[in-house]
Amino acid sequence: MGFEVLALHFVVGYELGHLRTWLADPSGRFLEKASFETMQARVEVVDIREDFQRLLADPPHGFGRNLNPCIDCKILMLSKARERMEQENAAFVFTGEVLGQRPMSQNRHSLDKIEKAAGLKNRLLRPLCGARLPPTQAEEDGLFSRSQLFAIEGRSRKEQMELAQQLGITDYPSPAGGCLLTDPQYARRLRDWLKHRGLEKMTPDESALLLIGRHIRLPAGGKAIIGRHQADNDGILRFSSLGGLMEAVDVPGPTTLLLEPMDATDIQAAGRLTGRYGKAKDQDRVSLQIRWPDGRQETIESPPGEPEGVYIL
Ligand code: SF4
Repeated sequence: MGFEVLALHFVVGYELGHLRTWLADPSGRFLEKASFETMQARVEVVDIREDFQRLLADPPHGFGRNLNPCIDCKILMLSKARERMEQENAAFVFTGEVLGQRPMSQNRHSLDKIEKAAGLKNRLLRPLCGARLPPTQAEEDGLFSRSQLFAIEGRSRKEQMELAQQLGITDYPSPAGGCLLTDPQYARRLRDWLKHRGLEKMTPDESALLLIGRHIRLPAGGKAIIGRHQADNDGILRFSSLGGLMEAVDVPGPTTLLLEPMDATDIQAAGRLTGRYGKAKDQDRVSLQIRWPDGRQETIESPPGEPEGVYIL
């Protein structure tokens, strides 16, 4: 349509790709890596993780099927986009939303509500379905005509994919699965985290912890996170400030994070599981060393096995 475009790439802190990148390289450079070189547009990464975390604690419009507060998330993103629009003296904001694509946030009622709450009434263009929506200010001002807008509607992505092909755009993310808050297992772990630790103290990086290892609630209410492979074990080491690191002595096996607070019953239970998931599983007993964040070290003995009263998240 001939417009100069500024693309905003929002980071909410629960993107699978970003968290995997962070686990591989915790220097935080994923924010710069998130650029779309093929877009031929200026791209700005907008880090809204802290605002999003506050929103997640109590989203006014509630959650979708899992722990995804899509309506409030979009209001937050589009409010930031409005601020940038005003700073840039831009004509309008546009998104790739399609009417009816998502049950919660892209029905007609939600589209209107989001637009209004973000302060973008008549200034938010959805070019993929704009021909099915009332004209925006930009259209009334003659910046483009209705015939340039698409009338895509519904859950299928066939038309968008055909359009991408026509425009030579082949490298785009999969349409589903990017946001971990829509993933049932991740949402279960996060709900458990909310119940036991709250969100206030959760740093944005800790959202990556919920992605790795086996997460196990122990009989007395403590929690252990047990690595499943070397990458998990390496990832767990990044969170050593949250609790004790437990490893079997002289026998290969997982690294286990004992989230504090943790009592003696739960330490024993975690020891049994750490032995059971390692090469010590057929031994009568295994020695385990624990290194606590304050520098203390202790060694315990435990019979490998599955203690009663544990459940896997
Ligand atoms: S899926 Fe996740 S990132 Fe997308 S709108 Fe919903 S909460 Fe926000």
